Amino acid sequence: MKPAPFTHHRPGTVEEALELLDELEEAELLAGNQSLGIVMANRLATPDHLVDLNGVDELEFIDVDDDAVRIGAMARHRTIERSDRLAERLSMLPEAAEQIAGPSVRNQGTMGGSIGEADPAGNYPAALVALEGTLHLRSTEGSRDVPVDDYFIAYMFTDLREEELIESVSIPTGPFPPERTGMAFVELKRAAQTFPTVSAATAIRVDDPTADDPVIEDARIALANAADVPLRVEEAEAHVEGTPLSVEGLEAVVETVSGAVTPESEMHADRDYKEEVAGEYAKRSLETSYERAVATETQC
Ligand SMILES: Cc1cc2nc3c(=O)[nH]c(=O)nc-3n(C[C@H](O)[C@H](O)[C@H](O)COP(=O)(O)OP(=O)(O)OC[C@H]3O[C@@H](n4cnc5c(N)ncnc54)[C@H](O)[C@@H]3O)c2cc1C
Repeated sequence: MKPAPFTHHRPGTVEEALELLDELEEAELLAGNQSLGIVMANRLATPDHLVDLNGVDELEFIDVDDDAVRIGAMARHRTIERSDRLAERLSMLPEAAEQIAGPSVRNQGTMGGSIGEADPAGNYPAALVALEGTLHLRSTEGSRDVPVDDYFIAYMFTDLREEELIESVSIPTGPFPPERTGMAFVELKRAAQTFPTVSAATAIRVDDPTADDPVIEDARIALANAADVPLRVEEAEAHVEGTPLSVEGLEAVVETVSGAVTPESEMHADRDYKEEVAGEYAKRSLETSYERAVATETQC
């Protein structure tokens, strides 16, 4: 099927894009077109106007400073995957990006498109929930900051208003000193080009990576495709905090995560199976994060 007719607009600045969103009825933003095109071709969305952000260069950036990483909405998956600065400071994000589909999707798809689409199976939503990111949203009326955790409300339903766009996301780096932090993004996937059955995004900060048994000061666990929104499981984090990583702690994580998730059954994975693998993948991801945190020569 072909999309319903629409008018294409190509603003050159955020301000122009926002004016178009404000003026036009039934307008939709277009970023990398790796999801919207499919939805429109199936006539599940029939916007009258597309406001194309591909000419808005000011949205395509990755800034790393002493306190935070800020990523523009039009940063491509490929740019995130290949960013050495992100690999040094927040390695979960390049690791999440490199597992998205194949090169053609990664060359075009964007951070803002992934958050805008808000698929609970998406890689960045889970990673950003684990990292406690903040979204910077803007309209002609002004800007507002929304913690990622408050943004995802229900299945593909978010706090984004019709006349707003996502400008960027920022993540504080203070909780993740590279010399004693490890992160991982681990997926169960049937094939490279599909969304994952379940993914786990985890981070661990230890007190002293050179100690015999480094103690975990802070653990983060979030799951993708395990509920109607990307899901952080703080009760599971508590099982491994305040001690070195142990078999008992990991067993408690598996049990708590499996009990906390509320996944939908899919053709190749029913709900029981997804509950089980959510626990198992949280465990695997934590093990990798801990190994990375205590390997002093490895960055997070
Ligand atoms: C075969 C295939 C496999 C995939 N596998 C995965 C996977 O494993 N993991 C994963 O995470 N993703 C996966 N994706 C999705 C991919 O990451 C998409 O690129 C992404 O979800 C949408 O990004 P986009 O830039 O293409 O957005 P678009 O398709 O252009 O837009 C998507 C939605 O976001 C809105 N939007 C875009 N930009 C903004 C903005 N700045 N502010 C507000 N709203 C905005 C649009 O209006 C639209 O509703 C896959 C896609 C395909 C085609």
